[in-house]
Amino acid sequence: MAQARDRADPLAHWRDRFELPQGRIYLDGNSLGPLPLATRVRMAEMVDVQWGHDLIASWNDHGWIDAPRRIGDKIGQIIGVRPGEAIVADSVSANIYKLLLAIAETRPKATHILTEAGNFPTDLHVAAGAARLLGLELRSVERAALTEAIVPETAVLLLTHVHYRTGDRFDMAAFEGRARQCDVPILWDLSHSVGAVPLDLAGAGARFAVGCGYKYCNGGPGAPAFLHVKQSELAALSSPIQGWMGHAAPFDFTDAYRPAPGIERFLAGTPPMLAMAALESGIDLMLEVDRDALWAKSVALFDHMAELMAARCPQMTAITPFDPERRGSHASFAHHQAWPINRALIDAGVIGDFRSPDVLRFGLTPLTLGFADIWHAVDWLARILDEERWRRPEYQARGKVT
Ligand SMILES: *Cc1c(COP(=O)(O)O)cnc(C)c1O
Repeated sequence: MAQARDRADPLAHWRDRFELPQGRIYLDGNSLGPLPLATRVRMAEMVDVQWGHDLIASWNDHGWIDAPRRIGDKIGQIIGVRPGEAIVADSVSANIYKLLLAIAETRPKATHILTEAGNFPTDLHVAAGAARLLGLELRSVERAALTEAIVPETAVLLLTHVHYRTGDRFDMAAFEGRARQCDVPILWDLSHSVGAVPLDLAGAGARFAVGCGYKYCNGGPGAPAFLHVKQSELAALSSPIQGWMGHAAPFDFTDAYRPAPGIERFLAGTPPMLAMAALESGIDLMLEVDRDALWAKSVALFDHMAELMAARCPQMTAITPFDPERRGSHASFAHHQAWPINRALIDAGVIGDFRSPDVLRFGLTPLTLGFADIWHAVDWLARILDEERWRRPEYQARGKVT
């Protein structure tokens, strides 16, 4: 049955475009996307020819200097914004910081930054640091109370579009509509959305966003992140990190800072070109994919998993919304022994994620997973639960990265 669905799957061939370990089922492409085969070739060319042979001439001859903007425009196609409205730079954390400060600076009467309690840790930590520096309060509010908490005194609302643990997805257009009533800007973190769920930021009225390159976009470990600012907002915003790459004319080497007129003003330092090359390869691959078909398969994989889990692993509590409009591309289940269960699963060759305190998270990446993979993963999980394999002492210890 699952095998028949795999045979009929129009996206099945994409799996051959990736390096995937034999004998393992990788349900963690939402945390670190696998290696596209094209990236290995691209990296070899980058190292051997561009860096190894052409050296500094590559900044012009191989378009290195334009890479942040060029790749940003490609990401713009995926998130639904116009050319010149997205750029690749730094990490998600640094981009949140730059945009929070830049936006808050335009709102002198505001008293606080608003975000969701239980947001991704870096979002909360960076927002707390930014608030401290700005002399603002940081208000973290439960999801159910968020719309009520948006008031004209809110400097900026920081929301993660798809929640990293539960998979809950905000209705972007609805929140933009609500925030607009109070003239409050929203900064969207798209880390668990980009390359996974359909995105139309312009259509939803979104003006500011950041996102991750190494998850569903398969840009490589620690890939550079991106940020989006709508064209109409750019002129009013200044980056708090006035680096030379954000200067209007970096190679004039003048003493005085003058920001670039466009989105380049949010660059700080020199782009990490090896990492940029890997990211661009991942993004190029994503641009080739029929993203409607991608999402349709994600929905089908989720339903398949939800059905199997309910039947075979009733001890686990499904915590991701079943309505596709309300979730991302991962499925999470709670169990008080989630940590040792995940260790036992990894031992069985099923690579998922544990998220503190009690969640098992499975990334459903349609380019590299099939229906039979999901069947086998749930089969292993059922065995581990039924035989209580997770009780073994070797599954109890925790590493530095969980
Ligand atoms: C993965 C992720 C990040 C990563 O931030 P980095 O600074 O790139 O490490 C940030 N926010 C969310 C919501 C994430 O899921």
